[in-house]
Amino acid sequence: MALHYDIIIIGTGAGGGTLAYALRDAGARVLLLERGDVLPQEPQNWSPTAVFDQGRYKNAETWQDTQGRPFHPGVHYYVGGNTKVYGAALPRLRREDFGALEHEGGTSPAWPISYEELEPYYAAAERIYRVHGEPGQDPTEPPRSGPFPFPAVPHEPYIEALCADLRRQRLHPFALPMGIDLREGGLCVRCKTCDGFPCRVLAKSDADVCAVRPALQRPNITLWTGAYARRILTDAGGRRATAVEVERGGERQVVPADVIVVACGAVNSAALLLRSAGGAHPNGLANGSGLVGRNYMVHNNTALMAVAPLRRNHTVFQKTMAVNDFYLRGPGFPYPLGNLQLLGKLQAGMLTAAQPLVPRPLLAAMADRSVDWWVMSEDLPDPENRVTFAPDGGIRIHWQPNNLEAHRRLIAAGSLMLREAGYQIVLTQRMGIATNSHQCGTLRFGHDPATSVLDPLCRTHEVLNLYVVDSSFFPSSAAMNPALTIAAQSLRVAEHLAGQPAARLAESAPVSAETPLNTESE
Ligand SMILES: Cc1cc2nc3c(=O)[nH]c(=O)nc-3n(C[C@H](O)[C@H](O)[C@H](O)COP(=O)(O)OP(=O)(O)OC[C@H]3O[C@@H](n4cnc5c(N)ncnc54)[C@H](O)[C@@H]3O)c2cc1C
Ligand code: SF4
Repeated sequence: MALHYDIIIIGTGAGGGTLAYALRDAGARVLLLERGDVLPQEPQNWSPTAVFDQGRYKNAETWQDTQGRPFHPGVHYYVGGNTKVYGAALPRLRREDFGALEHEGGTSPAWPISYEELEPYYAAAERIYRVHGEPGQDPTEPPRSGPFPFPAVPHEPYIEALCADLRRQRLHPFALPMGIDLREGGLCVRCKTCDGFPCRVLAKSDADVCAVRPALQRPNITLWTGAYARRILTDAGGRRATAVEVERGGERQVVPADVIVVACGAVNSAALLLRSAGGAHPNGLANGSGLVGRNYMVHNNTALMAVAPLRRNHTVFQKTMAVNDFYLRGPGFPYPLGNLQLLGKLQAGMLTAAQPLVPRPLLAAMADRSVDWWVMSEDLPDPENRVTFAPDGGIRIHWQPNNLEAHRRLIAAGSLMLREAGYQIVLTQRMGIATNSHQCGTLRFGHDPATSVLDPLCRTHEVLNLYVVDSSFFPSSAAMNPALTIAAQSLRVAEHLAGQPAARLAESAPVSAETPLNTESE
């Protein structure tokens, strides 16, 4: 058994999948380890009942909160990771998010890199993930080196009218940058079941379709599915990672590599490093700072339904607009509030799990007459919000939400905006511990080994050939969707690993839904 890889990447989501894509022509032998399988293309992909009511694709194990109460996290173990079901909103963070920002609840810390340093990689990531957008509408938009790769996803008439109304209120609604394949001849049929659903026709710009499949066209990239990384092993001094202990098909094997990159998602990456404690790293791998697993963030999230009882909303693809007028300060409030963005169109079958006591016809009547928003505010890093293990070895999440006054004010500002636009009823539902789809921060990057786990190129301060490229590296959560930033930083790390310029990394291989998956799964 003389397996030896130049690079092992653990996890195939926004971070790991993008890295594999960027390294496809670097000449290195790369092994991708993915604990999940390929998500099946099947009729249930687009069934609200199967996806939301029955949780057909939620295959993560049960986690526990501080009190030991179980919950089902918003985590999906598939090739492509959480991007298989994501909403495909792919905005950049704002320039201000890279500096220290004062919030009502405390300081959001600065990143060790500036927006300008990440900008070329944002541009490259937008090409890989086929982002559709329109610059110049949002005053908080950071400077761009070029246009979006594709024009914005057009609003449907109902949303266009709402957009005009918001402009009359002197707000600045903007086209939400989206990763769906509306290119000429593209595969997207603009359906109602995108946000939160897998795409049955592979037209969503997820990491499986845009990154992993094209990467696997190269003979030097190999994917093992059903391959769970249990531990990372090091040499005796603990300065070099030597191999990954993998469980696959009921067996354990040790696979050596020169470089190991962790990309399991913010909770599972921290858990993997903690599980990999050993002689030189008694408290967890690369955990001399004691920060591995700490500063877990998820955003403060609320779903908002604005209902106009006498007006039907016939929109099919609703997730086309966002409002950042309250991003950096609120009305009559000197601190940032966050982002408002449209959700995919809610349908009765998506609401029954959360509202089991409300009759389904009533839910259907509401959903037919609502416009649906995601209200998202920044939460702040708190070392006590952290990942540990429960006595049974399962994952335990300690989470106490913070910066809530900003979130409360953002909900109020959004509700007022919609009432002024003619919606008589505004319903909100605050998301709890299970809605951790924007998890980040558990292995923050920075210059100082005493206050960060990773250096600015996402290499662990303590283990010289160990990197982390998923959302764990975020020192702050900002209040925008994270996936494009994860992909951009992954491209930056790839350039460092491969010594190639970013523009070359983004030269897209023709991406076809027909691309076969060259896996060695069982
Ligand atoms: C419903 C939903 C909607 C969302 N909408 C948006 C959106 O519109 N825009 C946006 O930017 N973000 C969105 N997100 C969040 C986005 O999907 C994540 O931020 C992003 O996927 C995180 O990338 P990652 O690489 O950190 O982790 P993931 O994408 O979660 O990938 C981690 C991978 O590691 C694998 N893995 C875990 N542990 C192991 C192990 N021990 N061994 C081997 N493999 C392992 C997992 O199976 C998974 O494939 C959404 C998420 C959800 C769930
Ligand atoms: S809207 Fe397009 S990308 Fe989204 S699920 Fe439907 S077909 Fe796929």
